[in-house]
Amino acid sequence: MSKNFDDALPPGSVIGILGGGQLGRMAAAAATDLGYLTHIYCPDPASPAAQVTDRFSAKAYDDETALATFAEAVDVVTFEFENVPGPTAAFLAERVAVRPGPKVLHICQNRLREKGFCAEIGVPTTEYAPVQNRDDLEKVMAAFSTPAVLKTTEMGYDGKGQVLLDGKIGPAEAWAGMAGGKTELEGIVEAYVDFQLEISVIVARSQGGEIQAYVPVENRHKNHILDQTIAPAEISTKVAAKAQEIAHTIAESIKLIGLLGIEMFVTQSGDVLVNELAPRPHNSGHWTMDACLISQFEQFIRAVTGLPLGDPERHSNAIMHNLIGEDASTWRNILSDPKAKLHLYGKSEARPGRKMGHVNKLSSKSD
Ligand code: AMP
Repeated sequence: MSKNFDDALPPGSVIGILGGGQLGRMAAAAATDLGYLTHIYCPDPASPAAQVTDRFSAKAYDDETALATFAEAVDVVTFEFENVPGPTAAFLAERVAVRPGPKVLHICQNRLREKGFCAEIGVPTTEYAPVQNRDDLEKVMAAFSTPAVLKTTEMGYDGKGQVLLDGKIGPAEAWAGMAGGKTELEGIVEAYVDFQLEISVIVARSQGGEIQAYVPVENRHKNHILDQTIAPAEISTKVAAKAQEIAHTIAESIKLIGLLGIEMFVTQSGDVLVNELAPRPHNSGHWTMDACLISQFEQFIRAVTGLPLGDPERHSNAIMHNLIGEDASTWRNILSDPKAKLHLYGKSEARPGRKMGHVNKLSSKSD
């Protein structure tokens, strides 16, 4: 099948990436492999991506002079984290193509908007209710059975800003636990999902509307942080097909140009519920770096530059293990296994809970 990619950015073009973490670092490396240059924009000059990028702007996200200079210097802008301030994305989008666009960011920055969007397009999520303040929370808690989960609608990740409503905690304590003293926070209460397992699908959509998704994988967490990804997830073909269909529907309906990580719950009865959307490469896609011909990072770069998408099929099964905090100091041990593929992010300080790297181990696809 021939694909029209006449408008693709040619090699040598400059890809601007907002954010300088490990996702930006691995995306920049993939861009380099395709002959592109990268320009990272991130306030912290010591960020992991700074070590691998061609150009770097250590500027604030609200510095309009610096943003205008950045927009002039790049051929397309993308981002490696979804909390890019809305005004920053809008300012850049007036000057240069931003992919995925500001509308995708807007939806994915807020759990209520994500769930509202899923409802609009007929994609199932767990039951939920918005809560604006402590009084609201009291009413919602009375209406929901326990357990339930209270979360901040924005900026929460790795379990931060989440409180389990187990019937023992009152609304005042729960609200304080979620908001941590901040007054202008909005919350969401979600019915607790008694899931069989957590899975995710990484899906890419090109400018021309082509959609490609990686196989659903299982994600196991420790202390609310992703610990292991098992590719593929051990689920029935029916459940896998449901997850893939959800990924296609979301990518299509949101008019994605780029990559989207979709976290889902598989319930005891085999239903698939969407938990969260991340409009960028995702930690649960790191296994693709070694088990697929085209990694999620290359697919991401292909999508945002207008290249045709690559084949997401895996050549091997894989288990990805995150290295959190001091785990990374075991690199000698890890490398004593000649079949362990180690990826370190170049972070000098191993703080508890900090993602320092990951290890992929492959096995035969027929296993
Ligand atoms: P999140 O920040 O929404 O990805 O939540 C972090 C983790 O908390 C998830 O990966 C689940 O393990 C758990 N979790 C979040 N929401 C729910 C829910 N509604 N029901 C059960 N577990 C949840």
